[in-house]
Amino acid sequence: MNEITVQSKSRTDFIDITSSVQQFADGIGMKDGLITVFVPHTTAGITINENADPDVPADMETVLDRMVPWSGGYRHSEGNTAAHVKASLMGSSVQVIVKNSKLCLGTWQSVYFCEFDGPRTRKIWLKESV
Ligand code: ZN
Repeated sequence: MNEITVQSKSRTDFIDITSSVQQFADGIGMKDGLITVFVPHTTAGITINENADPDVPADMETVLDRMVPWSGGYRHSEGNTAAHVKASLMGSSVQVIVKNSKLCLGTWQSVYFCEFDGPRTRKIWLKESV
C-alpha cells in the first residue's frame, strides 16, 4: 500500500489527484490491474468526474451545499455534520482500471479528492490488485 498526502486550501476543495494515481501505477510497474484509491477520513471523500470545465466541481460544491447546508440544527457537537454527510455522499473509495500501464479513464474524467472540512492535510491510500 502507498500513501499520498494532499493539502486542501478551503473548507470545500476538489483536488485532481489523477497524476498521483498514474505515478503510483508507474512506480510499481503495473501493466494491467486495478488500483483502489481510498480516503481514510470521515469528512472527505473521493469521486471521478469532469476535469475539462472547472465550473463542474464548482457547481458540485453549490449543489452539495444546497442539499446539505452547513447549519441545519444537527446534533453532532463537533459542528461539522454537513462535512460528514457530504463525505458519505461522495464515498470513501474508487477503483480505476489500469491497462497497458495507463489509467483507463474517460476523456473528461479525473479522480478528485473531495475536501469538506478543510483546509487540512489529508492522506489517501493506494493499493493495487492484479
Ligand atoms: Zn465531526
